[in-house]
Order: sequence, then structure tokens, then C-alpha cells
Amino acid sequence: MGVRGREIVGMNIERVVELLNKAFADEWLAYYQYWVGAKIIAGPMKDAVIAELMQHAADELRHADMVSNRIIQLGGVPLTTPKQWFDMTNCGYDEPSDPFVKRILEQNIKGERCAISVYHAILEEVGTKDPITYNLAVQILQDEVEHEEDLQSLFEDLEIMLGARS
Ligand code: FE
Ligand code: FE
Ligand code: MG
Repeated sequence: MGVRGREIVGMNIERVVELLNKAFADEWLAYYQYWVGAKIIAGPMKDAVIAELMQHAADELRHADMVSNRIIQLGGVPLTTPKQWFDMTNCGYDEPSDPFVKRILEQNIKGERCAISVYHAILEEVGTKDPITYNLAVQILQDEVEHEEDLQSLFEDLEIMLGARS
């Protein structure tokens, strides 16, 4: 990392890298949870939900890319093996063992709520001490808030549909 770029980080750089690597682990696990969920999902409104899940998968992969670029800029190393994702994750991995559309949506809504909390906590800890990381977390947080809303609205539509059928 550039000398002056490093000097202006007013907190422990290793801590920033740790926060970012934990978020990086979350993004890869979220990516795979969406990706495989979209493959196996079954039930009403499946096509609309698949389209949303695939968009979100692409967003999570893009987030992993954005976070890794900042880790490298800070002189850190992004996690080099998927085994570390499980050691470092904040939000974990919710295996889509039940392919029913309602259950998949519930799992991913839970994941987005966790992601929102993670990036909010990064903003609180980093603050103006590292404005570049702060800005990165704001950008990603905006996407995660949108993800939660998109999934919640699909979930509500699905509940109406399921209710109307019973
Ligand atoms: Fe994300
Ligand atoms: Fe997300
Ligand atoms: Mg969306």
C-alpha cells in the first residue's frame, strides 16, 4: 500500500484487515448459498425467486471482489482457502436442505439481516478513522438493505398466494 495511504488509517490496520476478511468469508458463503439455492429451489413463484437469487448471488460475488481489493490495498491477504471461510464468518452458512421456496427465502432473509448488522458494525468501528473502508462498507450496506427488501417483498407475495390457496 502507498505510504501516505497507510499513514492516514487512524486505527490498527491488522484489525481493519480482520474485519474485512470476516466480511469476505461471509460474502463467499452468501454467494454459494444463493447460487445453490437457485439451482434446487421448488414451489410456487419459483421463476421470479430464481431470478432474484441469481442477481443477489452476482452481487455477493462482486462484494467479495470489492472487499478483497481493499484488503490487498491495506497490505493484507484475502483468505486463501474456503476452509477459512467457516473459521472467519460472522453469518455462517445456512444449508438449503429443504428446497421449498418459502424456506429458501426465510434462510436468505436471515442472511441479509446478518449482513446488514455486519456492515453496520464495521461502519461504527471504523468511522472516519479509515474513510476508504467506511465508504466501501456504505456501498455494500446499501446493496444488503436492498437485498433484504427484495426478498421480504417476494416472501409477502408468496404468503398471500399460499394463503389464498388454503
Ligand atoms: Fe454482500
Ligand atoms: Fe446480500
Ligand atoms: Mg434484488
